[in-house]
Amino acid sequence: MTAGLYLHIPFCIRKCGYCDFFSVNFEESLMKRFVGAVFGEIELRADEWKDAVFSTIYFGGGTPSLLDPRDIAWLLDTASRHLAMHPVEVTLECNPGTISMEGLCRFREAGINRLSIGVQSFDNSVLSFLGRIHDADAARGAFEAARNAGLANVGIDLIYGIPGQTPESWASTINETISLGPDHVSMYELTVEDGTPISGLVHGNKVAMPDDASAISMYESAVAMLESAGIHRYEISNFARTGHECMHNLNYWRRGSYLGVGPSAHSFRESTRRYNLPELGAYLTALEQRQLPPENAESLSVETARFERVMLALRTSAGIPRHDLPHVYTGIIGEMLGDGLLVEAGGRIALTKRGVMLSNEVFMRLMP
Ligand code: SF4
Repeated sequence: MTAGLYLHIPFCIRKCGYCDFFSVNFEESLMKRFVGAVFGEIELRADEWKDAVFSTIYFGGGTPSLLDPRDIAWLLDTASRHLAMHPVEVTLECNPGTISMEGLCRFREAGINRLSIGVQSFDNSVLSFLGRIHDADAARGAFEAARNAGLANVGIDLIYGIPGQTPESWASTINETISLGPDHVSMYELTVEDGTPISGLVHGNKVAMPDDASAISMYESAVAMLESAGIHRYEISNFARTGHECMHNLNYWRRGSYLGVGPSAHSFRESTRRYNLPELGAYLTALEQRQLPPENAESLSVETARFERVMLALRTSAGIPRHDLPHVYTGIIGEMLGDGLLVEAGGRIALTKRGVMLSNEVFMRLMP
């Protein structure tokens, strides 16, 4: 069985105003303890994953670019001593406010071959509203430094649908993205997560979220601009030059197996999903005593597993082969083909443009 390995690095310089991912303030001493704990978790989980060959590795966060490149090399070495590793793609998520040309060279030498840069916007007022630690110049510099460091596979991550973000600001961000020549672009609409500073502003009527029509228009205009620049959509929120699709994430959408290590990291295999609790102290304490960290596990029902398989496949532009479609969905898929939400071509069923915009409705209709 092939699988992906995800390492969650839960440290950030400062919390962004919209973010509810699990992360804590960066402290060098905590990072050292954390790296040792991840080493231990890989060791303790190796037996359960001895039948897997890991073809992708993803350092996500948090801010994994806060890792010392020596620790990346050490973690990759640890992984290859305990797990069967044949990684063709090793991604590092990177915050433009944390990297230098020298650091990027060392990341590449340590084994990173793909960079995903959290640019979010090239508009300083938008970046400031989001509470990012970097400005647009730092984002430009990060991309250029990545190329100069010899990284051949570099992606840019963006956010749209932000209070105060004008269509012109967004178009200019997309234009600048295209002009830099990334291999991959991710583009997510801002979601208001409870408990975040931006949620306080929105619910206190201090700022207004763009209406649905504006958000849809931003998405559609970006898709058109990216597609005409040869960066094609291969998943609802992900775009790439052909051959640069993110293999690690494709494994998620194909409902492949993956091992996640680090606090709050999720793992999946054989219809069981497990996740480490998002508590750094408990994570460190358990692993320093050579025990697995506190976790929750969920065994998926046949109906849920079936729904996930179809829903995840429909997120991708490739869709799902008609012959893989469970019979229970024949009626509802037929209805949605008739409604113009889905299209069938070459024996595969996929979302139409309208279906992409209304994907939540499509997935609701498929739910068990
Ligand atoms: S850098 Fe990323 S993970 Fe950290 S707070 Fe900001 S959005 Fe969240």
